Amino acid sequence: MKICVIGAGITGLTIGRLLSKVHDVVIYERELSIGGIAKTKTINGVSYHPVGGHCFNSKNQAVLDFIFSEVLPKEEWNCIKRVAVIYFHDHFIPYPIEFSIREIAMFNEELAFRIVKDFFSTQEREVDNLADWFRVNFGETLANEYFIPYNRKVWKMEPAEMSWKWVYGKLPIPNKREFFKALIKGNEDDMPHRFFFYPKTNNMNTFIEKLGEGLNIIKNFEVISIEKKGNKWIINDSYEYDLVISTIPLNTLPRIIKGVPNAILEEAKKLRYNKVTTVLWRTKPIDFTWTYYPSPDTIFHRHIHIGNFFVPKQNYTITECIGEYSYEEIIEHGKKFDYLLEPIDFNISDHAYIVYDRNYEEATTKIKEYLKSIGIYTIGRFGEWKYYNMDICIESAMKLAKILI
Ligand SMILES: Cc1cc2nc3c(=O)[nH]c(=O)nc-3n(C[C@H](O)[C@H](O)[C@H](O)COP(=O)(O)OP(=O)(O)OC[C@H]3O[C@@H](n4cnc5c(N)ncnc54)[C@H](O)[C@@H]3O)c2cc1C
Repeated sequence: MKICVIGAGITGLTIGRLLSKVHDVVIYERELSIGGIAKTKTINGVSYHPVGGHCFNSKNQAVLDFIFSEVLPKEEWNCIKRVAVIYFHDHFIPYPIEFSIREIAMFNEELAFRIVKDFFSTQEREVDNLADWFRVNFGETLANEYFIPYNRKVWKMEPAEMSWKWVYGKLPIPNKREFFKALIKGNEDDMPHRFFFYPKTNNMNTFIEKLGEGLNIIKNFEVISIEKKGNKWIINDSYEYDLVISTIPLNTLPRIIKGVPNAILEEAKKLRYNKVTTVLWRTKPIDFTWTYYPSPDTIFHRHIHIGNFFVPKQNYTITECIGEYSYEEIIEHGKKFDYLLEPIDFNISDHAYIVYDRNYEEATTKIKEYLKSIGIYTIGRFGEWKYYNMDICIESAMKLAKILI
């Protein structure tokens, strides 16, 4: 079968690689380089992620086996300990916050008491928005002091206006016994992602290049039209395929398919997403891999200390804010952080985070049903319009490959 894959991000490269074993596959990528939002850019000898900061791990053994046996061998990755902290009430406390109540008590006993009292008072009840979901699962105080302000920043939207249905599987939800154990023993980070993998070259592109090795990738080629003629698909009025697999955003795909009903185009227009603005900084030495900033006092929601993903460690951090900011605004805000010494590079992304507003489920379902009815597959973080990490994108591509091989 002649298959066209649109997009050479992690999803497109994975499905392309798996299907190339038995089919004739062409991957079209509009950029000059592959890797999508996971790729790095090298500047002054430092390779950083202009869109966020990407480490690799997976709870799915099949994904780990595929990556380590078929893409980049395990011995070519460093295994790094995650040290994530939250800047909370002017103190750094370990992530996740619900297991750090002892640390909070050391500087604010009253607040720690309220968190504990409210956590143990939570009662299951039906909720219809994300803010209430946090209240029901973590108690009023933790919801109001941490989860709601942090999520307001990450989604640039009121959690009370958002759907809660996507959270399961994304956010660990402690039960009362686990919460109690952490109160007694302290925060022992035994979460699945307490370690992560990063290539020994200190550059995620090593992995990305390996994933794309040997594939038929046409770069600098934007797919601007897809048309069904008989039982063939015609790309950009010129190239003929038996099958199309798209990994490009679900809000843009319908616009390039000829003959899409208006109702589907309208659903696509409703889908909301956010961009991120990042700056790479040279820093003082820092002990953490990530710092989270829930407070509205700063536009940053997270600092990714990418230099601590490297071996040996280097002093670099990526600051991340949701939405578009000017270079000058970021530099001004950066002055509040004594460890940020010198800005090195600046980037504003396109799609970075999809937004789970109340409407996303109905809109994505209608668009996906339509695409299924005409026989176009859509997979990946923006293709499925889901909050996927790289490993889930790989998993999704593996599932589709099983169907098509
Ligand atoms: C800030 C941030 C931090 C993250 N951190 C992590 C992390 O630490 N670990 C982790 O596992 N995951 C992380 N993720 C998630 C991870 O980046 C994604 O799950 C994954 O990279 C998505 O890959 P994709 O191929 O589905 O999409 P994309 O990377 O978006 O790939 C789509 C590709 O399609 C191309 N394209 C678009 N339109 C067209 C067109 N018309 N014609 C041709 N080509 C086109 C694009 O240029 C792009 O290359 C993070 C995400 C963000 C935003």
